[in-house]
Amino acid sequence: MVAEKIKTMMESSSFIRKMFETGAKLKLEFGAENVYDFSLGNPAMDPPKEFTKILLEKAADHHMHRYMPNAGYVDVRKKVADYISSEQKTYITENDVVMTSGAGGALNTVLKTIINPGDKIIASIPCFMEYKFYCDNHGGELELVNGLEDFNLDIEAIETAITQKTAAVIINSPNNPSGRIYPQETIVKLSDMLVRKSKETGRTIYLISDEPYRKIIYNNIGVPSVMDAYKNSIVCTSYSKDLSIPGERIGWLTVNPNAEDYTNLINGIILCNRILGYVNAPALMQRTIAELQGISVDIDIYRKKRDFLVKKLKEFGYNFRIPDGTFYLFVEAPGGDDMEIVDLLKDEKILVVPGRGFSLPGYFRIAYCVSDSVIEGSMIGFKRTAEKLGLRQETK
Ligand code: PLP
Repeated sequence: MVAEKIKTMMESSSFIRKMFETGAKLKLEFGAENVYDFSLGNPAMDPPKEFTKILLEKAADHHMHRYMPNAGYVDVRKKVADYISSEQKTYITENDVVMTSGAGGALNTVLKTIINPGDKIIASIPCFMEYKFYCDNHGGELELVNGLEDFNLDIEAIETAITQKTAAVIINSPNNPSGRIYPQETIVKLSDMLVRKSKETGRTIYLISDEPYRKIIYNNIGVPSVMDAYKNSIVCTSYSKDLSIPGERIGWLTVNPNAEDYTNLINGIILCNRILGYVNAPALMQRTIAELQGISVDIDIYRKKRDFLVKKLKEFGYNFRIPDGTFYLFVEAPGGDDMEIVDLLKDEKILVVPGRGFSLPGYFRIAYCVSDSVIEGSMIGFKRTAEKLGLRQETK
């Protein structure tokens, strides 16, 4: 028998997946070319050419596929650490890095390591709702707090939510779904507050920074380093989005070498990576990404898609904040009802995710990591829906 808890989870499970499944049905019925599926952050773009070349070379060169240290190959971690050191403005060595099965694997490994039964992990709305399941996996509970209207973190709201049960705050910048990059001053304010609250509660509150979109940014807006700002920080990420390889399940986490209880923390994480059943991150992928530090898909392609969507949807009368990064556009649901707009768009065979899938009803998310033909083909449906809803179209 399936456990009661899992039955409930299946019923309330992710809106993103639900829309993706609806899309698959519509594609069977009407043909894939007539369905405009913006539901999943599953990049339709090929990985960079270097990825395939190195993957083939590594597959040909390495005949051994044995177990390795649970943290991953030492030489791979060294290459990753060298790269992270400049990205995070903190001196990181191979000892601080654990190769993981994507960002999801990294987050689960960290959460298992730090959660005591009944602990809370705070995240800011809107956010990636898999966090809820990840916390529950390890006996913790995700506690959501409201963000600001411009999708920035509300530090006071986070502070108010902190108690002795708070094990960590998890942030995601650039943010899925809002595309927001939290500015340096926000990260510093958050860090100062966490130092103060850790003292007050007598407990180290970790800052977990989930950064799989760090390289997908526009207009040279940098992503501030959490490691530089706060010593009790852990960064989790993957190559899923920036190399377009989510199916390959490769990422890493790094623990700030200045963190309190550092040795126990990193050793605990390495143990948890093993006993969660990941054992170690996929070997061939580790060898491949080691040679691809700093490489990503061409972000200009996403910039063009974003700019096209921004221009057209504005013309049709939709409202949104232009994303600083990611390949998501988080649009206000006209009239405030996210389910209504999702249904109207579905009538046009356009699939988007309602804001409530990120704990923020009143919006919907467009994942524009799709081909130009999908974006262009959907425009008539977005326009008709705007007309149905009486949105004021921009006059040229
Ligand atoms: N974190 C965020 C914010 C995401 O959007 C995703 C995937 O969509 C993940 C983590 C999981 O990424 P991965 O495929 O690397 O496990």
